[in-house]
Amino acid sequence: MTRLTRSDLDALPAYVPGRSVPGAIKLASNEVPYGPLPGVVDAIIAASSAIDRYPDMGVSALRAAIAARLGIDGARIVTGCGSVALAEHLVRATCLPGDEVVHAWRSFEAYPIITATTAVTGIRVPNADDHTHDLPAMAKTITERTRVVLVCNPNNPTGTASTRSELDAFINDVPADVLIVLDEAYREFVTDPSVPDGVVSYGDRPNVAVLRTFSKAWGLAGLRVGYLVAHPPVAAAVRKVLTPFSTSSLAQAAALAALRAEAEMRRRADLILVERQRVLAAVQAVVPGVPTTQANFVWLPLGQRSIEFSEMCEQAGVIVRPFAGEGVRVTIGKPEENDAMLAALATWGTDPPAL
Ligand SMILES: *Cc1c(COP(=O)(O)O)cnc(C)c1O
Repeated sequence: MTRLTRSDLDALPAYVPGRSVPGAIKLASNEVPYGPLPGVVDAIIAASSAIDRYPDMGVSALRAAIAARLGIDGARIVTGCGSVALAEHLVRATCLPGDEVVHAWRSFEAYPIITATTAVTGIRVPNADDHTHDLPAMAKTITERTRVVLVCNPNNPTGTASTRSELDAFINDVPADVLIVLDEAYREFVTDPSVPDGVVSYGDRPNVAVLRTFSKAWGLAGLRVGYLVAHPPVAAAVRKVLTPFSTSSLAQAAALAALRAEAEMRRRADLILVERQRVLAAVQAVVPGVPTTQANFVWLPLGQRSIEFSEMCEQAGVIVRPFAGEGVRVTIGKPEENDAMLAALATWGTDPPAL
């Protein structure tokens, strides 16, 4: 039989987005629930009169604003259509077919899709029993063929984070010609001082790159904009493989406006942090083994009962994100949204069939 598409895609799981159900509370995609930041919608409207023109391909104003905020040279910054796209572009800029990319598992579900579709060999290293990355084991899997190690910090979906001493030891172990990518999509929610800011702590390392996004704390998930901070030669290589103009003019204007509203971003993220503490304590009282979290979500390691829990939440009008056979990721929302999830959890707690 002839076919038009790649046969290897048949075996590849598709990315599963958090579901949106009309009328239901969505705690499934790690968004912040307070709407666009002030000034952002106006900036988009103002920029919309020029959408008949291509955007600034160099993304100069936004890159300059990010560079100023981070106190680094703009040559080190590349923006893209979400940091997911930049992770893929990093792999395309570093790997030839058959090369290896190491990442933890369970981790961000985009990673196996990226490795499969870029024809590299993805090496998955199981998380430690406490759901954190097993960095020593990850370092041990590195071979001559390894080009990239993806480190998700904090990790999606477990919320766990690697500390400075763990990362120091890991980075010193990794050969200088292997690129370490720190995916810091949830950096704004990190409160543990032992969890390092990758740009500050490792920015001087030529083989470390950091991914950040405007999708979570900055409230721009729908516009698709993220950025990469890397050594200038790595950044230049990524620019070569970028889809041209992949940071749209509206995304550039919106991200610039969001950066101007940083104080409000911080205020909203702090509201989430207060709720995170409350929700974490409540779920830990009911579900065994819930790890502490440095992100805007909690991980419930419910194993074979994960789908059952997510269906029960849905009946209560709350959409969460189950990973069949493993656990359920629940985004921290507004207090009343979290209360709805906790009310569902309470009924579960009074009727706990064996795990
Ligand atoms: C949400 C998320 C991203 C951000 O993706 P965008 O493409 O920027 O929306 C990146 N990495 C991880 C681990 C995430 O959870």
